[in-house]
Amino acid sequence: MKYHAANGYAYKVTRNEKLRIAACCANKKNNKCNWHMYVVSCDGVEGSPFIIEELNNQHTCDGGFINVPHVSKKLISSLIKYDIKQNPKKKTKDIMEKIRREYVFDISRYYAYAGKRYALNMAWGEDEKSFAYLQWFTKQLSETNTGSRVVLETDASQKFVRLFIAFGACIRGFNYCRPLLFMDATHLKSKYLGHMMAATVLNRDNGIYPLAYAVVSSETDANWKWFMEQLREVVHIMGGVTGT
Ligand SMILES: [Zn+2]
Repeated sequence: MKYHAANGYAYKVTRNEKLRIAACCANKKNNKCNWHMYVVSCDGVEGSPFIIEELNNQHTCDGGFINVPHVSKKLISSLIKYDIKQNPKKKTKDIMEKIRREYVFDISRYYAYAGKRYALNMAWGEDEKSFAYLQWFTKQLSETNTGSRVVLETDASQKFVRLFIAFGACIRGFNYCRPLLFMDATHLKSKYLGHMMAATVLNRDNGIYPLAYAVVSSETDANWKWFMEQLREVVHIMGGVTGT
């Protein structure tokens, strides 16, 4: 697809297997153009990179495509996915410029944005779906981290309300820290926003030591109260250290 967009020649895949792919010019039949390429997996194992084994790079036809390719969010995503992994905050304006500079066609702001969202979802999963995994995640977390306190609250329709996590190892380590708790909260910047609350401690070297954190909708008194109640359970486990 990248070749198609960058060079203006359409190709046809004649063989598409896990370890080898062959393609010829889309005008092979009509114009008897003999452009063709044959690539094979370099290690002969699925998933390893492909190398070009044979290439006739001379088109004798005058190209089958000069118009703009069919623009879709999937196409844009495939052209920018490496950039987006490096820089998830890449601006739509810069995506439009990149497509114009490297592939010589213009796309609308809508497709630049939709392509970026698609690339982000492919790289890190969809926000909506990650909420759906929370039940599973919290169960696994409790089972594999003995002594942890993990509390997931959902409403009657199973919608996320708030989540508290204190790892067992952090709770045990708190015994060796200064008996003083620091509380703070910060804005979350993902699509669904919310606040992250955290309780931290100082260790003997004055390093910041995380004890517990929570994700809540906003920094309300009710949420702080709930966070402190969860925290009290954790501190209680360790034998009743008083926090401020
Ligand atoms: Zn050709």
